[in-house]
Amino acid sequence: MRHLGVIALALTLTACGSEPIHYTDFAIGTTVHLTLFGTDRADLWAQILADLQWLDDTMTIWDRQTPSVLMRANQAAGSPEGYPIPPELEEVIRLGLEVGRASRGALDITVGPLVRAWGIATDHPRVPAAPELAAARALVGLDGVRLEEGRLFLAKPGMVLDLGAVAKGWMADRIAAKLRQAGVERAVIDLGGNIVLLGTKPDGSPWRVGVQDPFQVRGRYLGVLETSATSLVTSGIYERYFDEGGVRYHHILDPTSGFPVVNELAGVTIVHPNSGLADALSTAVFVLGARDGRQLAEAYGAGVIFVTRDRRLWVSPSLREGFRLTATEYTVVEDLP
Ligand code: AMP
Ligand code: MG
Repeated sequence: MRHLGVIALALTLTACGSEPIHYTDFAIGTTVHLTLFGTDRADLWAQILADLQWLDDTMTIWDRQTPSVLMRANQAAGSPEGYPIPPELEEVIRLGLEVGRASRGALDITVGPLVRAWGIATDHPRVPAAPELAAARALVGLDGVRLEEGRLFLAKPGMVLDLGAVAKGWMADRIAAKLRQAGVERAVIDLGGNIVLLGTKPDGSPWRVGVQDPFQVRGRYLGVLETSATSLVTSGIYERYFDEGGVRYHHILDPTSGFPVVNELAGVTIVHPNSGLADALSTAVFVLGARDGRQLAEAYGAGVIFVTRDRRLWVSPSLREGFRLTATEYTVVEDLP
C-alpha cells in the first residue's frame, strides 16, 4: 500500500509584507501543515495537534491500542440499546448521512465492512474472495443507521461506520474556527489534502493553490487556482492503492458493486467554503462520475475540477477565471468529460 499524494494540493505562497511561518507534523495518518503570517504561534500549532489527536481517539477505525469511541460504537452494532456518542461524532455522522442520501448512496459511511475486506489503509491490502465480498456488502446501507438522543444505533451486528471520507474536512473547519477565535485573519490549513484558506494573502491578493496531478508524486501540480477564503478538497485514485494481477485497485469503493470505483475520473477537486461538505462531496462526486457528480456539486453550490484518466480536465464555470493549466500533457475541455 503506497501513501502517495496525501497532500493533494501543493501551495504556492508568496510573502508580501509579512513572512509566512510554516508548521508541519504527522497526525491522523497523514502530513498536516499550517501556514501563518507575522508572529510565531507555536501555542496554536500545539493546540491543533492536540485536537487532531482527539479526532483520532474519537473517530478513527484503524487498528489502535485502545479503541476509539467510534470503534466501540461499531462493536455495539446490532445492540437494541445503541451506544452513547459525543455531539461532535454525531455531527460528522449526520453530515455523512445527509450527503450520502443526497448522492443516493454513492457516499456511504457504512462501507466499513467493505473497506476492511479490501484491507484499505492496512499493510496487507488484497482483493477479497467473492463470498467475503458478498458478506461485507450485505452489511452496507444507510438505512441501518439511526441517531437518537445522543445514541448511535446500527441495525445489524458486524456493521461498521467509516468516517474516512468526511472527518478530515469537518476537522479542518473546526481548526479554522478556532484560529479565527484566536484572532488569526490569514492562514492556510492543510490536513493531508483538505485545504482551508483563511482570508487572503497579506497584501490582499488571492491565494494561489496548486491542484495535484493525480499521476505524479505529491507536490507536482497540473494547474493553479487563484482564490480567497474557501476550502479545497481532492479525492483521487492515486492517494492509496495497490496492484494485484496487473490491476491497480484504489481506496474509493462503489458501495453497490463493492469494488473500487471505475469510471472516467482520476481525481476530483471540490471548492466550497464548508470543508466538511467539500470532503463529503469530493468522495460522493468521485463515485458518481462526471455527469451525475457535477449535478450534485452544483446542487450544493460547490465548484469542481475533474481530472480524467485520459488526462482531460474540466473546470466548472465559477472557477474558470481563477484557474490556469500548467502541465502540458493535459487538455482543458469545454464539455463534460
Ligand atoms: P476521501 O479520500 O475523502 O475520498 O475518502 C476515502 C476514504 O473513505 C477511504 O479510505 C475509505 O475509508 C472511505 N470510503 C471509501 N469509499 C467510500 C464511499 N463510497 N463512501 C464513503 N466512504 C468511503
Ligand atoms: Mg472525502
